[in-house]
Amino acid sequence: MKFTEEHEAFRQAVRRLVEEEINPHVNEWEEAGIFPAHDLFAKLGAIGAIGLEYDPEFGGGGADHSFTYVLAQELGRCDAAGIPMAIAVQCSMATPALARYGSEELKRQWLEPTLRGEMVCSIAVSEPDAGSDVAGISTRAVRDGDDLVITGRKMWITNGTQADWICLLARTDDASKPGDYHGMSLIIVPTDSPGFSVGRKIDKMGNRSSDTAELILDGVRVPATNVIGEPGRGFQQQMNQFQDERLVGAYLAIAGTRRALDRTKEYLQDRSAFGKPLLANQHLQYRLAELYAEVDIVDGFLQHTAERFTAGEDVTREATVAKLKVGRLAREVADTCVQFHGGMGYAEEMWVARYYRDARLVSIGGGADEVMLRIITLMEGMTKR
Ligand SMILES: Cc1cc2nc3c(=O)[nH]c(=O)nc-3n(C[C@H](O)[C@H](O)[C@H](O)COP(=O)(O)OP(=O)(O)OC[C@H]3O[C@@H](n4cnc5c(N)ncnc54)[C@H](O)[C@@H]3O)c2cc1C
Repeated sequence: MKFTEEHEAFRQAVRRLVEEEINPHVNEWEEAGIFPAHDLFAKLGAIGAIGLEYDPEFGGGGADHSFTYVLAQELGRCDAAGIPMAIAVQCSMATPALARYGSEELKRQWLEPTLRGEMVCSIAVSEPDAGSDVAGISTRAVRDGDDLVITGRKMWITNGTQADWICLLARTDDASKPGDYHGMSLIIVPTDSPGFSVGRKIDKMGNRSSDTAELILDGVRVPATNVIGEPGRGFQQQMNQFQDERLVGAYLAIAGTRRALDRTKEYLQDRSAFGKPLLANQHLQYRLAELYAEVDIVDGFLQHTAERFTAGEDVTREATVAKLKVGRLAREVADTCVQFHGGMGYAEEMWVARYYRDARLVSIGGGADEVMLRIITLMEGMTKR
């Protein structure tokens, strides 16, 4: 991937923001189990980091996808993965469908202030009884005059306790039932609507600074015009939106692996055992070298995929492979970093334990490894739906 001066200027702006506005506060936010999303997103909006690829007509940057890769590389320098994940939800997971298929009115009302960082949003697909199997969702929106009345529960929703609106996947066709792929829509739901509530904030093993919530929709009424694009196409729109989510998730995670290896290398250089720096031990050198090599290969694949995505090509398969391989590699890197730090790898006072906990999510969130494998088996004709 070729980077221009414009990319580098943007990179420096994001790096400064990470170093000055995020990393100094990360310990406090991890402890609190939440970060101030409105405050931070306004700062990201001010440097144009939220709406990079979106239409300038609605406050976007009109940039190509390569800038999103740069953004993720720099956000990967955050000292906790929860913050980049929450930012990615705002930039690349909850907003692509609205930007692609939403009406002008919806974009004016919801996308524009979100890209400025004045509003916080969430993507609400998963439910208590349906995660991997998106077609299993049961949240329903029933037409009543000019409105939709929505009832259901959503689970694991990132930014869920702070969001101003959610991009919700629900069944809008009365005949559509759990198991069906048709008859769903993506709907903009303002979180100050009567009947909307946060059921609970989930206490998690990792990504602790990011708030994750169970949401309850009890007869929430929204205008039927809040449906994004063509009613009934929500499942397909969400599958398309997952492509952005999986790619950006992979960019973030690969940046995290490289930083973790760099920090481990420095630690091994500084710490001695048996009369020499630990890094002088060939076993440790080779293990790190092996992992650097794997990071290079996966990152090369990601950059190649980013270029194809920039060119407007369908990268469903590549996004799936990327998500799978980055998740597995992040786990391997994290485990090795803990091992090579010895006791300090097991202590909360260093970065390693947090990285180990955070990295574990990559193989689960946005579709588990097994779901990625399932997509590949479908593409290879080994199985049918
Ligand atoms: C921190 C965090 C943040 C999240 N943020 C969001 C969010 O913002 N919005 C949102 O909608 N969702 C979000 N999720 C939900 C996430 O996408 C789901 O957890 C994930 O898709 C897995 O679904 P599940 O947890 O219901 O697992 P299940 O569907 O119950 O699956 C459990 C396990 O079974 C295995 N499995 C599943 N299907 C198959 C299969 N076909 N073949 C073989 N094995 C299989 C996998 O190992 C899987 O991990 C988040 C989750 C976490 C933990």
